[in-house]
Amino acid sequence: MTKSAQKHILKLGDSMNLKEILLKAKNEHYAIPQFNINNLEWAKYILEVCEEEKSPVFLGVSQGAMKYMGGFDVVVGMINGLKKDLNITIPVMVHLDHSPTVELCKSAVDAGFDSIMFDGSKYDYEKNVRLTNEVKAYLKDQLFEAEIGKIGGEEDGIASTEYFTSLSEAEDFISKTNIDMLAPALGSVHGIYKGEPNIQTDVMKEISEKTNMPLVLHGGSGLPENILKECIKNGITKINFNTELQISWHNGVLDFIANNKDVYDPRKVISSGEENMKSTIREYINILGSKGKA
Ligand SMILES: [Zn+2]
Repeated sequence: MTKSAQKHILKLGDSMNLKEILLKAKNEHYAIPQFNINNLEWAKYILEVCEEEKSPVFLGVSQGAMKYMGGFDVVVGMINGLKKDLNITIPVMVHLDHSPTVELCKSAVDAGFDSIMFDGSKYDYEKNVRLTNEVKAYLKDQLFEAEIGKIGGEEDGIASTEYFTSLSEAEDFISKTNIDMLAPALGSVHGIYKGEPNIQTDVMKEISEKTNMPLVLHGGSGLPENILKECIKNGITKINFNTELQISWHNGVLDFIANNKDVYDPRKVISSGEENMKSTIREYINILGSKGKA
């Protein structure tokens, strides 16, 4: 076993490796949720619900969230501790979300992350291919996600059709890189959607059928149940949620503070959003069909 594998925080305890977890979801037409974490409470609430529901889960960690929590080692140590102390038995993939650089990917691998997303979508296509391969060369047994096209941003809430991923581009990218998951830009948006979401499920289906690659849907928050299910039917294997968890937590906290202006215990304030957030997580697990799949 390599040093990195020994450090690896995922202990499945059965024969399924990470890639098989993805392929099982794809073959059985459910999606594995990625919930992004911000702190200890976020990670704890997500793990508790996923364990209860027996759902595998990706814990998404953005560069900003990593810095907020202190660093990659803090994240890995914290998740390891939670898994042990809370007796978590489900597959938990600690995932670097939207890494803009090769170096950041390497640091996450060194710290013991299970899954890496390199996002070279801001570069021209050839550079994206080259850097994606550079990251891949460094990986051991981590899952690997890459992005092509440009997924809509928080600033505008609208996905520009100009940057949508085509079947030929997806096929070309997959043939030139050795990735496990592809995030194509097909109309989803990070943050809040403005107007009706315009998701290209026909292209999604084509890419999925022609390449058999597990596809990732970014910007799951704000998409209605019917669209999420339609995406899963057409090849989406992992769906990322971030904003919706923040909003539901925030609503709980606002209510609490409005009625308890004199409570200053941080545990009471922070956990006043717990029930809201947990029910949002539970809802998504049910929609995605990942309940009972761990
Ligand atoms: Zn994303």
